[in-house]
Amino acid sequence: MPFCRHKCGYCDFNAYAGMDRIMPDYVGALERELAASRDDSREFAPLKTVYFGGGTPSLLPPELIAGLLRFIRATFDVLPDAEVTLEANPASTDEARVGAWLDGGVNRRSLGVQGFEPRALAVLERKTDAAQATRAFKLARSMGVANVSIDLIYAVPHQSRESWIETLRRGLDLGPDHVSTYCLTFEEGTLLWRRRAEGKVPELDPDLQWDQLDAACEELEAAGFTRYEISNWARPGFESRHNLAYWRCRPVYGAGAGAHSYATDGAHAWRWWNVARPREYIAACPTPRADGEELPERKARAESLMLGLRTAEGMVPPAGFDDELARLAKSGLIDRRDGRVAPTRRGMDLHNQIALAVL
Ligand code: SF4
Repeated sequence: MPFCRHKCGYCDFNAYAGMDRIMPDYVGALERELAASRDDSREFAPLKTVYFGGGTPSLLPPELIAGLLRFIRATFDVLPDAEVTLEANPASTDEARVGAWLDGGVNRRSLGVQGFEPRALAVLERKTDAAQATRAFKLARSMGVANVSIDLIYAVPHQSRESWIETLRRGLDLGPDHVSTYCLTFEEGTLLWRRRAEGKVPELDPDLQWDQLDAACEELEAAGFTRYEISNWARPGFESRHNLAYWRCRPVYGAGAGAHSYATDGAHAWRWWNVARPREYIAACPTPRADGEELPERKARAESLMLGLRTAEGMVPPAGFDDELARLAKSGLIDRRDGRVAPTRRGMDLHNQIALAVL
């Protein structure tokens, strides 16, 4: 769902502001794509997870999202216990929308809180504030959303260790089941990237970033959360099944503007992606595919190892990486046990080193 109320200064996602008028056409195009994919691939396995990401899926008016949820259930075999997640912005969370999500079977909500402190929110150019985030969270809970995740961002310019801890504690006070913490990155081409280049925004000291990550581990673990992936913490049983599917290299079908898909038969892997711009996507549907590639076997295995080593559970490593794994174990970045490999705490914090070694 590539629509947003406003383009945040740090964001390089496929997200556009000021396109609300084309939402009905977009959803119509999306349904054409979904129906065509279903017809082309009759062997579609029953869906274990459905994920509405963005952009801001919560911006869709209730009748549009309700219709789309009905369409997906009518078109695909969605398992009765499927995890159905919708990413929501606090500002576009109201009773009518939450009601439509619940009626359509959305059973997990990912709330883009990002922060509570006015200065950090201003640097990020977020248009929502702490009061809105709190209200949106409580509304979802009071209406019966059992599984709620929040996103928080650290390494924001001017953010101290103390103010980050305060942000974590305010987030935890809401009572989430899952917390994602993202380190702010300056993506080339974004407004924030330009502002840093002009000297208007400082980058956070790397030592302070490290301290903030350390603080997140301490605060979240003390609150009963487990770090099951580099950036993700969950209460027991609330790990994101959808995101685990990515890290475990399960087949994922992505529909919509700019969406990426992945398929594998165990030995080979393919990925493909759709045209990114919403209007071009609408015009191209029901066949919006922009391009794709077959991954060479070694690369497919390397990617699966790199992704598996993002997760605390690790994996049984694919063949052909003995030297790399021996070096990683010697550096204290991974543990090898019972035929499996898993990242150490150091390996999670320095996953880029693992990725470099493996890829
Ligand atoms: S709301 Fe999210 S997707 Fe939209 S512009 Fe802001 S960061 Fe990007």
